[in-house]
Amino acid sequence: MAAEAVYLHVAVPLPVHALYTYVHEVALAPGTPVVVPYGRRELVGWVIDQTGPPPRPAKAILRILADTPVFTDEQLTLYRWISDYYLAPLGEVIASASPSDARNRTRRVYFPTEAGIEAIAGEPPVGGLGQILREVVARPGVTRAALERRLLAEVEDVPRGIAALLTGALVRVEDVVIAAREQRPRPARAKGAPRTSAPALNEEQAAAVEAVFSPAGGPPARTTLLHGVTGAGKTEVYLALAKRVIAAGRQVLVLVPEIALTPQLTARFDDRFPGEVAVLHSGLTGAQRLREWRQIQRGEVCIAVGARSAVFAPFRSLGLIVVDEEHDDSYKQEEGLRYHARDVAVVRGRQVGCPVVLGSATPSLESWFNARSGRYGLLSLRHRATARPVPTPQVVDMRLERMPDGKVPLIAPVVRAAVAAALDAGGKAILLYNRRGYASFVECPGCGQAYECPSCGVSMVYHRGSGRLDCHYCGFHRMFQSDCPKCGTTLEVLGQGTERVEEVLAATFPGVPIARMDADTTAERGSHARILDRFRDGDARLLVGTQIVAKGHDFPDVHVAAVLGCDHILGMPDFRSAERCFALVTQLCGRAGRGHVAGEVFLQTTHPEHPVFSCIGDMAAFADHESRIRRMLRYPPFSRLILLRCEGVEREATLAAAKALAALLKQQCQAGVDVLGPAFAALPKLVGRYRVQVVLRGRDVAALRSVVTRYHTSWTPPHGVRLIVDVDPRAVA
Ligand code: ADP
Ligand code: ZN
Repeated sequence: MAAEAVYLHVAVPLPVHALYTYVHEVALAPGTPVVVPYGRRELVGWVIDQTGPPPRPAKAILRILADTPVFTDEQLTLYRWISDYYLAPLGEVIASASPSDARNRTRRVYFPTEAGIEAIAGEPPVGGLGQILREVVARPGVTRAALERRLLAEVEDVPRGIAALLTGALVRVEDVVIAAREQRPRPARAKGAPRTSAPALNEEQAAAVEAVFSPAGGPPARTTLLHGVTGAGKTEVYLALAKRVIAAGRQVLVLVPEIALTPQLTARFDDRFPGEVAVLHSGLTGAQRLREWRQIQRGEVCIAVGARSAVFAPFRSLGLIVVDEEHDDSYKQEEGLRYHARDVAVVRGRQVGCPVVLGSATPSLESWFNARSGRYGLLSLRHRATARPVPTPQVVDMRLERMPDGKVPLIAPVVRAAVAAALDAGGKAILLYNRRGYASFVECPGCGQAYECPSCGVSMVYHRGSGRLDCHYCGFHRMFQSDCPKCGTTLEVLGQGTERVEEVLAATFPGVPIARMDADTTAERGSHARILDRFRDGDARLLVGTQIVAKGHDFPDVHVAAVLGCDHILGMPDFRSAERCFALVTQLCGRAGRGHVAGEVFLQTTHPEHPVFSCIGDMAAFADHESRIRRMLRYPPFSRLILLRCEGVEREATLAAAKALAALLKQQCQAGVDVLGPAFAALPKLVGRYRVQVVLRGRDVAALRSVVTRYHTSWTPPHGVRLIVDVDPRAVA
């Protein structure tokens, strides 16, 4: 063997930046999945390239998992870019980008017991055990591997900890069967004639389609921002583009923020291109996902519609990437590999030389800025495709709506009257209140006791439906008792949520069926679609909910859309809060008046003068206003940020680690890079861990990255503290 030994670089899915060298008898193609020894463990890794003999003797590859590579050279190029840009180990990038192997037939998963949840409130086990327990409470159904990965820096021996928690009945175990390799073949896709035909495109749409393929003043394959008012017919533009690309024998990738929220878009692609559409989303089992993936790989479909991770879909000859609602935050993965799927899409398009279309009625300031500065193309659809224009909202100043008892009503009289009129006319209404639950906090007027999550230190939210107090951050919960357990006084419930709005609506419009859509009513698979179906069919005529109700639905008989409350978004300590609120309010306005009745839109606020409300309908005005602030404060898009966050159970140790890190960065920093912090995060404690962060800011992201690679790789956080690196963080508060 020694004579012909081949040395191979293998990437392993661990938070280590190095590639490891293993020896094998014959060369293996890049992308070949292999099992390698790693310490006392065996790991699945991927061959990256061939290399020379290492200084120390190399261990041998144990097994080869497949004869054919699981990714192409094109994909490897993208993975390398991601690894470099997001400062993430290549093995972790490949692991996140690939569908999980469906060969694992059962998976051992862990759930908290009621006693476990009680222990968090009372006396949580100390040290590592407590941390494992909190993690299980926060992620019921978590696997051992996931626990090990998440607790790498903090807990020495996770398996032993789990065993102790099982013995103490604080945690229970379940073996879930993953729908393994199906015996029956997938029902053949019923490729056939389109079920819908394309409407004749209007002038703006037709011009947009032309400009994507032959842009004026830019290279033919570039990124284009398609800014179109809600209902402008962006989807028809995507469909027309797709048709051409497919006719030319190439493939189309369509990214949507969340499949469950956009069933209509998926259906429209499937109707227009029957049998050609693979759908990728997080609701699929491992085996289902793998099946869709293989179909794409084998070229059996030419369109994939999917959420964030579909950006990695293994097409061989991509002709177009569409990112719908490109401003949506759900494109950013906030765990593990913290990538932004829109940005990865732009890079992938550039690498393969295909156009990328970013669509939105409320583009992100980054994309807007890129389009304005000529980096991206800019196409506008200014008018709705249907007869009715986007309604002009009426801003309702809630400061003037105070009732004689001093309270502010949930629904202003003018909004109530409009909803009543809509119902009388046979129409429907959508009402948004951006907080779920019944009451946002609970307090004892007798002894002042407040109800906070012991792991996160935030107010617990009262849910009347379940009779529980819930932490919205970590899953900790307890039953609600109406009397204070300490002093017996009847507890006071304060603040509002969608459950309360539903109650008020039921009292105001007796007999009118109401549907509520928020994270509580949509936890079950398929529940979104059921709620939307009920609303479409008229089994519900009022739809109330959190921001989910504002997302892309197209119902012709919605006469009224109203924001009952979203001001607290503006109060969030986050530089993007105004942008986020503007997008939400604009999207909601777009739900009304899509049929032949003109819609009415109301925005209830105590800040009517805020540009979020005064600029509705005028993206340019909002962007100008917001840009002035961002430029002044040196926030993106006028700078780039990298967030470094230390997280640990011990407050002082975590703070000390962050201080040491900040000091090191400051000492070594070059001109043009600011080091901000250390400071506690806006949520200073989450799932039992304190969070202290340092932010790097500068104009040049490459300079920021080099600061991190040079100094953070030489700095390891002390035991018990983990370091999270977030390039282009969505929030820095
Ligand atoms: P957007 O994605 O911009 O919100 P859609 O593509 O959903 O808009 O279009 C809104 C509505 O207008 C849909 O009901 C769609 O069928 C219709 N529509 C779009 N383009 C045309 C067109 N050229 N002719 C007729 N109806 C159209
Ligand atoms: Zn919590």
